Amino acid sequence: MAGKILGTTVYYDADCNLSKLQGKKITVLGYGSQGHAHALNLKENGMDVTIGLRAGSSSWKDAEEAGLTVKETAEAVKGADIVMVLIPDELQAEVYANDIEPNLKEGAYLAFAHGFNIHFGKIVPREDVNVFMVAPKGPGHLVRRTFQEGSGVPCLYAVEKDPSGDTEEVALAWASGVGGGRSGILETNFKSETETDLFGEQAVLCGGVTELIKTGFEVLTEAGYEPVNAYFECLHEMKLIVDLIYEGGFQKMRHSISNTAEYGDYYVGPKIITADTKKAMEQVLADIQSGKFADDFLADSKNGQPFLKQHREAAAKHPIEAVGSELRGLMSWLK
Ligand code: NAD
Ligand code: MG
Repeated sequence: MAGKILGTTVYYDADCNLSKLQGKKITVLGYGSQGHAHALNLKENGMDVTIGLRAGSSSWKDAEEAGLTVKETAEAVKGADIVMVLIPDELQAEVYANDIEPNLKEGAYLAFAHGFNIHFGKIVPREDVNVFMVAPKGPGHLVRRTFQEGSGVPCLYAVEKDPSGDTEEVALAWASGVGGGRSGILETNFKSETETDLFGEQAVLCGGVTELIKTGFEVLTEAGYEPVNAYFECLHEMKLIVDLIYEGGFQKMRHSISNTAEYGDYYVGPKIITADTKKAMEQVLADIQSGKFADDFLADSKNGQPFLKQHREAAAKHPIEAVGSELRGLMSWLK
């Protein structure tokens, strides 16, 4: 049953009522990373799920082969009681204006897996519409895989608008239906989910980690060390160390490494992540909170993604990728 962890309420399957979804017409827009996972998990829980896609979408066939009904976005929204929007964040506002709102039934539930568009005011739903979020704290493919294995990825949920009075129950049922109630469903709000999610991926998980690995690799190879050594030290071992931290915190990791490594950890860490780095992180957070990041990201998308494409291309050419692809070919355990 529900409990509290450090002030946050955590719900499990026993607290959720799947009947809040039964008999409702459910539409999932998009059949990508999150879309296929939500749709298939709910379908296997007995729900009536339709997928909405663009005409000619490459995912159309996959969804049909998985036994789902597929319609064009606008058609899929018509008559739906719940519409979960799982298309890329940068496209949602336009699709909402053109295809969703004009076809959205009075009193329907509109749902998201990330608070971005609602929180930054890019989508402003009609007054009669209930709005909630279920955000799995993991990639969509794990939401599907863990569900099939009998476990699930923890989910955040939030309610933004509740004219019907039961949106929280519907949100909890959704989170349970996709498998989140097997590991925990945590209550949050759109602002907190959006801002912490963006900060985490930018400063720590994606932006922070890749720059750290890449810079370490460059320093070693530019000093003349073998690229293979540099790759193992800076990239491959990252997972082994992070696994220990994940299992038992910094202490478990530091217990497992040598005293030499632990001494070096304390001796050097603060010289790399300095007071200036912390200041830069605070600025990153301020740009997220002010909406500057959201506006820059959406402007790039509108212009055909020049920033995204240029950086994606440059990153693919970095020597660490060539070294990695050769080495991983030799790692039998990765196949
Ligand atoms: P994705 O890029 O994997 O998939 C997007 C899907 O939308 C594709 O099937 C695409 O064909 C479809 N699509 C594109 N334009 C469309 C349109 N006009 N009409 C209908 N369908 C259209 O996206 P994703 O990574 O699953 O992200 C979806 C949402 O989930 C986003 O809000 C994202 O922030 C959130 N989210 C994603 C993850 C993740 O694991 N990737 C984790 C948590 C939250
Ligand atoms: Mg994220």
